[in-house]
Amino acid sequence: MGVTKGVGGSPEIAEILTAKGMHTLADTKLKNLQDMRRAGIQAEFLFLRTPAVSEAEIVVEAADISMNTELSVLKSLSVAALNRGIIHRVILMIEMGDLREGILPADLSEFIGYALSLKGIAIVGLGANFACFGGVKPSNEKMQELEDLTERMEAEFPLTLSYITGGNSGNYRWFSAAASTGRINSLRIGESIYLGCETLEREEIPGLFTDAFTLVAEVIEAKRKPSLPYGEIGQNAAGGYSSFQDQGEMNRAILAIGSQDVIADGLTPMIDIEILGSSSDHLIVNAKETKLVPGTEVSFGLNYSALLSLMTSAYIPKKYFHSTIMHQPG
Ligand SMILES: *Cc1c(COP(=O)(O)O)cnc(C)c1O
Repeated sequence: MGVTKGVGGSPEIAEILTAKGMHTLADTKLKNLQDMRRAGIQAEFLFLRTPAVSEAEIVVEAADISMNTELSVLKSLSVAALNRGIIHRVILMIEMGDLREGILPADLSEFIGYALSLKGIAIVGLGANFACFGGVKPSNEKMQELEDLTERMEAEFPLTLSYITGGNSGNYRWFSAAASTGRINSLRIGESIYLGCETLEREEIPGLFTDAFTLVAEVIEAKRKPSLPYGEIGQNAAGGYSSFQDQGEMNRAILAIGSQDVIADGLTPMIDIEILGSSSDHLIVNAKETKLVPGTEVSFGLNYSALLSLMTSAYIPKKYFHSTIMHQPG
């Protein structure tokens, strides 16, 4: 499954994913699913974040499938699906140690026993998530456990579990090393596709580009200034206290982008400058010996947090190469 949350549900990117053979697109934002559908993207849409009770109506409308862990939510989805006259498909997420979402394996039988009595929904799979909150790796043992659980549930209940979704970009090493992936027939991949790395050690994946996304920001001030703030010191814009080393005077520059646009920690300049910090609309850099003047464009590589923040910012214009999607002006 192609995960589109990292690119803000961009129809331009979704179009490329489907053209390259991905038939399921998954996102944690309902708005992103709606945007992709409206843009005419032909795919099966999966809601990746466990739904809120209050979202049930929109979930069954915007998503063909959703991930679930709560019976009360399933009840709401069941009512909403019946009202629409459809069957909404659900994948049950299993807690396997990373300690974000998931039904505890010991509770699964009882959960399914009850869920099967709900009309309007169909349980079509099991899934697990790794390396998100607890940093727990998707090992052979964990994948085997998910497979065993699948077979036990199929033996106990009249169920055909067709989606066994074992994890995210953190599964790259398991997937590429495993002699057989067994019953695990799906991974939900975002970061690896966009940034060309696996996510346990951020190691590059052979054959993929790591610079498919680039931020270009413009210099709005460039001056020689001291490296140490002067005057009485109080809190900074973030509510903390700044600390700087005195390096004498330096060539400083400001770029027209800030912490309301991007998680600045995730930027890597492509030229020899150093990011000193950011406030809401300014990125302050040590230009070192690099010649920067107002109007100079500086390019940055991105990590996933930077990509996600930029792609979801309404303030950052996106420029796509190789896209055929036309946007209405305005
Ligand atoms: C974000 C997300 C993914 C995709 O993660 P990547 O690291 O980008 O591959 C997969 N599953 C769930 C539940 C997610 O929230």
